[in-house]
Amino acid sequence: MKILVVNAGSSSLKYQLIDMENEQVLAKGNCERIGSMALLTHKTGDKKVEVEKEMPTHSEALDAVMKALTSGEGKVIDSLSEITAVGHRVVQGGSEFTASTIINDDVMAAIKRCIPLAPLHNPANILGIEACTNVLGKEIPQVAVFDTAFHASMPSKAYLYGIPYEYYEKYEIRRYGFHGTSHRFVSQKVADLMGKDIKDLKIITCHLGNGASIAAVNGGISVDTTMGLTPLDGFMMGTRSGSLDPSVVTFIQKNENLSADEMDSILNKKSGVLGISGVSNDNRDVCEAASNGNERAKLAIEMQNYQIIKYIGAYAAAMNGIDAIAFTGGIGENNYDIREAVCDSLTYLGVELDKKFNLENAHIRGNDIKISTADSKVAVFAVSTDEEMVIAKDTLELVK
Ligand code: AMP
Repeated sequence: MKILVVNAGSSSLKYQLIDMENEQVLAKGNCERIGSMALLTHKTGDKKVEVEKEMPTHSEALDAVMKALTSGEGKVIDSLSEITAVGHRVVQGGSEFTASTIINDDVMAAIKRCIPLAPLHNPANILGIEACTNVLGKEIPQVAVFDTAFHASMPSKAYLYGIPYEYYEKYEIRRYGFHGTSHRFVSQKVADLMGKDIKDLKIITCHLGNGASIAAVNGGISVDTTMGLTPLDGFMMGTRSGSLDPSVVTFIQKNENLSADEMDSILNKKSGVLGISGVSNDNRDVCEAASNGNERAKLAIEMQNYQIIKYIGAYAAAMNGIDAIAFTGGIGENNYDIREAVCDSLTYLGVELDKKFNLENAHIRGNDIKISTADSKVAVFAVSTDEEMVIAKDTLELVK
């Protein structure tokens, strides 16, 4: 059984075709700049195929992907009928979706109802679903896997903001949380690595990538997470500010005479590590600048680490203790220095990092390792997240 995993952005379409018999990725790729002269990069094994052509909509992009999968150098299947089902990453499932679900007309209508909560993401996800219906036909089942679903278990004391309750009732303004597929995968992986039932564990998962979030997972259930109504909340990320005193927003808007959209763009695209360092949003560039003596780059790294440390402390308190911490995402899987800096401030919890092992295993992509000592009261792991595999497994489970 082969599952196609689709992650559609407003002008992009990422995909993986996974053979579920052996959980092998047969091909993966990305279509960029959909809407004009687009570029499809299709990879299978060590082969890479590039196709540049006009792709006015996601349907033409998906059509190009299907051609790449079934013909030429990147061919991995004989015909589209070999695709059992399609699993879609859908960013916002609102309060309606607490788990992955087969897409039908009602589900599409509900995903559309969630657009005001994710105006940039859900419309793009819908384009991806519609493109699959156009190109593959209605017979191939499609499944939506929501970034928010894993966090739907949060109690109201964690998900409500301290603003007039009527805004929650009127607009559903609350914390939803994101990266749920990753936090779910990583927390389960930690339980597997510890050889314990996840129901008996209190785990903090740190997904540190360009977008980043931390979750408190108690007994396999997300009880709190740093991202909120949108993925802007929490701690400082590549270009996003993370949490602020709300007055900062109104102060800058008034004094700089900015519209709501302009302010939104500053907080989402020009803040965070980029905004502080003035160097880049990319962790590698900022680390390099810091090691060359750039003070603002150093400050950006210190600030981000400090905020991560504070959230871990907060979640240890929220769960009344922790058994394990996991680092994942592009930064968590590659930057031993951040893992060390964070763990150095968690000795009060009984965290003891095996520094030598952590350093020797800086890059762990494709592996999962324990980086704490045998005596550490809290087990610490670096785990390779695999959101696509979770989407593929959920899809298979639902269509079986
Ligand atoms: P993600 O959003 O999960 O793809 O992660 C992107 C972030 O991971 C970027 O800030 C990258 O700089 C960082 N990253 C990726 N590879 C490495 C690496 N080898 N060393 C340090 N950071 C890395």
